[in-house]
Amino acid sequence: MFDRKKFKESIERILKIDFGKLLDQAKDYEKYYAVSKAIMEFIVDDWSMTEKAYENGKQAYYLSAEFLMGRALGNNLINLGVYEDVKEILNEMKIDINRIEEIEEDAGLGNGGLGRLAACFMDSCATMNLPVTGYGIRYSHGIFKQKFVNGFQVEEGDNWLKYGDPWSLRRYDEAVVVEFADCSVRAVPYDTPIIGYGTKNINKLRLWKAEPIKDFDFDLFNDQEYDEAVKEKNRAEDISRVLYPNDSKNEGKILRLKQQYFFVSASLKDMIRSFKEKFENDFEKFHEYHAIQLNDTHPVVAIPELMRILIDEEGLSWEKAWNITVNTFSYTNHTILAEALEQWWSGFYKEILPRIYEIIEEIDRRFVIELKEKGYTDEKINRVRIIDDEMIKMAHLAIHGSHTTNGVAKLHTEILINQELKDFYELYPNRFQNKTNGITPRRWLKLCNKELSSMITELLGIDEWVTKLTMLKELEKYLDDEVVLKRLLEIKQKKKEALAEYIQKYEGIAINPDSIFDIQIKRLHEYKRQLLNAFHILDLYYRLKENPKMDIVPRTFIFGAKAAPGYFRAKGIIKFINEIAKLVNNDSEINHKIKVVFVQNYRVSYAEKLFPAADISEQISTAGKEASGTGNMKFMLNGTPTLGTFDGANVEIVAEAGEENNFIFGARVEEIEKIKETYDPKEYYEKVSGLKRVVDTLIDGTFDDGRTGMFEEIYNSLLMGASWHRPDNYFLLRDFDDYREAHKRVDKAYRDRLGWAKKALMNIANAGKFSSDRTIEEYAKEIWNIAPKRI
Ligand SMILES: *Cc1c(COP(=O)(O)O)cnc(C)c1O
Repeated sequence: MFDRKKFKESIERILKIDFGKLLDQAKDYEKYYAVSKAIMEFIVDDWSMTEKAYENGKQAYYLSAEFLMGRALGNNLINLGVYEDVKEILNEMKIDINRIEEIEEDAGLGNGGLGRLAACFMDSCATMNLPVTGYGIRYSHGIFKQKFVNGFQVEEGDNWLKYGDPWSLRRYDEAVVVEFADCSVRAVPYDTPIIGYGTKNINKLRLWKAEPIKDFDFDLFNDQEYDEAVKEKNRAEDISRVLYPNDSKNEGKILRLKQQYFFVSASLKDMIRSFKEKFENDFEKFHEYHAIQLNDTHPVVAIPELMRILIDEEGLSWEKAWNITVNTFSYTNHTILAEALEQWWSGFYKEILPRIYEIIEEIDRRFVIELKEKGYTDEKINRVRIIDDEMIKMAHLAIHGSHTTNGVAKLHTEILINQELKDFYELYPNRFQNKTNGITPRRWLKLCNKELSSMITELLGIDEWVTKLTMLKELEKYLDDEVVLKRLLEIKQKKKEALAEYIQKYEGIAINPDSIFDIQIKRLHEYKRQLLNAFHILDLYYRLKENPKMDIVPRTFIFGAKAAPGYFRAKGIIKFINEIAKLVNNDSEINHKIKVVFVQNYRVSYAEKLFPAADISEQISTAGKEASGTGNMKFMLNGTPTLGTFDGANVEIVAEAGEENNFIFGARVEEIEKIKETYDPKEYYEKVSGLKRVVDTLIDGTFDDGRTGMFEEIYNSLLMGASWHRPDNYFLLRDFDDYREAHKRVDKAYRDRLGWAKKALMNIANAGKFSSDRTIEEYAKEIWNIAPKRI
């Protein structure tokens, strides 16, 4: 078992070796580093054993440009089952565990939901003893850090490695070379252990760093051409320098293309190398031993890259290579937003990856022939072909070049099949599946809400629920147990007080823990409709001004969101909400009734403090636009009813927990479809009480956007239509009144404290479906065809 004495000695030894210090001389981050390294020492043997155990069977590989891991220390201690032991040991050493947990920089190697999903999946795979490796990029800089200056978002670089990273091992011996038309770079793997919960299995996340083949040019340096001497080094390192902070569009085109090919090519070369060690050149077995999941289209260049390796390097025929390729890959679609469907101008491919482009052309050529043989018209062919009008359609390549395509929630998959990918569904009906997303209950309950976790374990008598989340269903037997319901309310209160303290410390704003904590936390995007939330707050403010006696439960509206740096309108919405916050929070007639806080730098570690403290989960995207959402699941698991539209996984959340335990409003997909051609937001603007008043604050001088024109631009986008959008493309004005009514229902329901606790309990009890363990089990059985292997 856990050897306390040895662990203590390990910490002290690492402090000496790495920092030359004794315990009482060490800085907090040095203590954090030493404790983390001591954990690495503790797990290293199990890690090797796991690798050995997986070696000879089929394995799956999760290729993702993003892994939004957050902090590792607390999570690893929880998963190892030694959190309390280590807390006590550190106590004896006069180290406060909370303090050193808080020192850790988030590994923010992702933008939002897609990257966090990859992280939750890694946790579930290890916990379920599944032979799965994650492959991605070790960005030197993750998602930018966000501050507000005068209410405007300001971005700063995220130098997350400045104190070093105790959780990864550099594996230079397994480096590979990746070739572009204009240069070659070395891909050096950094391996991070993924520690399963309640098992000894430890899986691997392998992230590639780009380095030059040659460190610097000795001759140039000798000639005192210093900049020239390191030019090649810098160009190589640029490839893994930054995560593109963009959710939907592709910026920094050529560099981004290089990033994609870089990690995909390195990962495939890695797989091929170990395959050859075992099976030499028996490539027809390749897909019997490898299942490769493509997380969205970012790694889809893997399809032509595997073709290139099999044909050019291993000498296989086109037909054989294609058969292996299609049987190896599967693809997850994450979006239905047309502007987010990735496509590449063929010119970039021709310039950077000419051979890959030839292969894509050949895939396209053969595809067109097949379709003609099937009697497809030219028009229909153009809708599905891979290269159209000099653009390479990555989703088309993914579907045609893989055996399975999946959506991420029932509604999302239905929309893919019936609308967005209808042509492909007709062509390949057996290739489509649904895999409703999930979240890991380890981080999103056991770690972030220890109080609620303890109560659940006490009530169920065992802690098996952490890996069998549907066991939570048994909590329903306490629905009428006042003692349990009151305890649930007390826990929520405690988490709200902790969040209030944190917000006071980091945002400098005092909030009332007895108010309703109404929280919207997610990337800033028009379709997610933070602006609808803002309009409602402003309307409530004006109604309270008009009618000071209006009886409402005090409310704290909390936002957290980063906007892509180039997304002007999203940044305008942040500024607008901060202006509303200033107005409301400084009005002494109002600020004891409502308050507005936009927290800075929303990220995984902040999320862990926000979800447990929420009374209301805002999930208000335009119906049909949010593929799944996973934030909605984190709220649910922490006993927070959803105030939301029938969109993404909200549909399934409500089906599980009961519509009566949530607050659903707004147009559904079918209605949006019906009205979208004739929708005139001006009708709502004129007719719905109070709506004009709040929309007009964008242009009537109520608020100051620092002469940036941001607010007017938003106003125009709603009423005139701006750039390529129709007016009010996301139907805010259509849904405004329904949303306001839903808020009134929340206010009324919240007053009945025990009734509210029941809703909370029903949400917790029915959250079992949304464990990423369930999702991963489905991937393993229905797509990857792999089995668990416990060490
Ligand atoms: C869960 C999570 C997300 C995804 O939130 P959605 O509401 O599903 O968009 C984004 N960012 C962070 C930090 C998360 O933890």
